[in-house]
Amino acid sequence: MILREFLDKDYKIHGREHLDEYLVKLCKLVIQRQHRDPEQFGIVGACVLDPDHNIGVGTTTKENGKWKHAEHNAMDDYNKRYGEIPEGSIIITTLSPCNDTMADRSGPSCTDIINASPVRKVYCGYMDPSQHDPHAEFTLEDTQNDDINRLCKKMAWTFLGTKNHPLENASEVFENYQTTTAKFIAAGIPQDEINKTINQYQNLVNRNQVQGNERNIDWWAKQGWDKFNKFVQASASVPSTTQIKRRKVPGNSITLLDNNDWQIVVPLDRNASAYFGKNAQWCTTNTCLNTGGFEDHFGGQVLIYAISKSQDEEQWNSTNWAIVDDIHYYPKIYFELWNSDNFDGDPPSAFKKDVGLTAIQVIKMARQKHNKQIIDKARKAHQSIYDRISNYFSEEPVKRDPQVEQDLIVTRHPDEASRYIKHVVDTLGPQDFPDQLVKLAQLNRKFSARHVGPDQMSKYAKNAIEK
Ligand SMILES: [Zn+2]
Repeated sequence: MILREFLDKDYKIHGREHLDEYLVKLCKLVIQRQHRDPEQFGIVGACVLDPDHNIGVGTTTKENGKWKHAEHNAMDDYNKRYGEIPEGSIIITTLSPCNDTMADRSGPSCTDIINASPVRKVYCGYMDPSQHDPHAEFTLEDTQNDDINRLCKKMAWTFLGTKNHPLENASEVFENYQTTTAKFIAAGIPQDEINKTINQYQNLVNRNQVQGNERNIDWWAKQGWDKFNKFVQASASVPSTTQIKRRKVPGNSITLLDNNDWQIVVPLDRNASAYFGKNAQWCTTNTCLNTGGFEDHFGGQVLIYAISKSQDEEQWNSTNWAIVDDIHYYPKIYFELWNSDNFDGDPPSAFKKDVGLTAIQVIKMARQKHNKQIIDKARKAHQSIYDRISNYFSEEPVKRDPQVEQDLIVTRHPDEASRYIKHVVDTLGPQDFPDQLVKLAQLNRKFSARHVGPDQMSKYAKNAIEK
């Protein structure tokens, strides 16, 4: 049994890197919901994390014309899922909890709500400079990660400085953006269009794709909307060097749809899965290489990725979807829907709203005869790879098997690769490692924490010989 009182006494914030990961996820969620419905969702995200890593999540939402704040929603979400929030829990939020009275807020201040709860630690992405009544009974700290801080600040400043969130010292830059926007509005440009272009422009500035005067929004106000817009559109279509570098061979896949906004693909191998899923948190992509990810799914499921083309290279600005079509139910359709944050609770209507097609329509595209044939063939090949590997391990293996090495290079399953290498090096001298085995060992070191790399491989072999 855990002695909670020991935990309770500890109001210190630990594991900042871990907490920063949550902040990034929250930013993504906020932006995603902004894309979905900017009227209904506000620009703050928060979560409650308990000592068992149970999590309740919320963003600011509109309720009866007022804003219900993210912390409030996160706590309600936690209560709904797990009941009472236990002591030792922490709240992570993109913006520090409010403490002033606010006309447009639904319910008490977040500081009051948290004070009344067992939560005694709050970690935030940005300290709200518009709040002047500090009465928190909890430890409040902000991130030391500049990128995350900048992002959270940027989100907060979309509403700071307005009537309900007055700022005493609004920075010059912020005002310049406001004035420029006002100027463009006065020139008859629709607000939506201005916001979109300014957003793109800020991305360009953040990526250092803009130099000199062109970095200055004030200067653009003088140049006028047409020049500004033209410049942004032209620059936005030029890929940055990182973007060019990222255009690697995307492996083997089928493209179901490719228009201005979306590319919908069925990855047929791990490389394609990693390539198309690079901006999502799915286990089927490189982001968690120490699981079998893609291979574990592909055996019984068809993965379909809808990749948004409006995402930029700061990965938070993407709304991608993965449909997992479970073929065990074929010809019936049973599917799961995962968003970029690897969250599977969004309704199918959210997918339709983003992509413009229903998930069922997309699955039917993948099931069209010619596509199905290609997918089935890839799955069969994949299945035989798995069969060969499991046959190899079904008896105590004593010899190298170049085919199995090749298979392990394809599947990159870390446990099996390590196991294979350990077995095989016992039968070889340290000089005798064939290239393919070295390649497997190199990959193994790359994709697993439990790795056997080439150096360790030599050590094993040496020991084996000395025995
Ligand atoms: Zn609040």
